Amino acid sequence: MNDSHDEFRHKIIGHWCTYCGDNAEEFDHFPPRAVTNYGLLVPCCRECNSHISTLYAFSFKDRSLLAKDKIRKKYAKLLRIPEWDEEELNDMAPHMRDSVLDGQRIQEIIKQRLAWDSWSYLKGIDIKNDIERIVVEIDLILGNMKREFDRSERLNKKNDQDLLKPKKSRQRACMAEYGAIGCDMVG
Ligand SMILES: [Zn+2]
Repeated sequence: MNDSHDEFRHKIIGHWCTYCGDNAEEFDHFPPRAVTNYGLLVPCCRECNSHISTLYAFSFKDRSLLAKDKIRKKYAKLLRIPEWDEEELNDMAPHMRDSVLDGQRIQEIIKQRLAWDSWSYLKGIDIKNDIERIVVEIDLILGNMKREFDRSERLNKKNDQDLLKPKKSRQRACMAEYGAIGCDMVG
């Protein structure tokens, strides 16, 4: 957290996690440190931070969607708990009823975290610094970087193919040559 590289980042102070609205205990580096030293430090809960910190997600939207996706997968079982009505609950043994009610309470919290509007929260948190403009700028730079990355990936692939081509044809030429010599020798 006290990394000296963070001095180039704008720190946004907020009580709630940018990605799910839970208690914010840490900061997420957006964009990730692997990409650049510049950008934002956004309030983040420990869970979301560990879910997305190692992932190389571009754009603020991608990161928000990813955090939600991780929560959805982690609590899939809890989210499947059916709703029981008052009568059904009353028919249950007390310990059973308590565990169902506990499950439903946690399920409700998970649903609220999944419905959290990251974008609105972040925009509203620090109006004087115009976070929206900063995020849009970062996303634009990241988009360009990604395009550049994809382009160089394509170029590398193409270069590999180009390098392989003459090698293959050289190999074929050699084989043909030796094959011919072999044939001559056998003949
Ligand atoms: Zn969170």
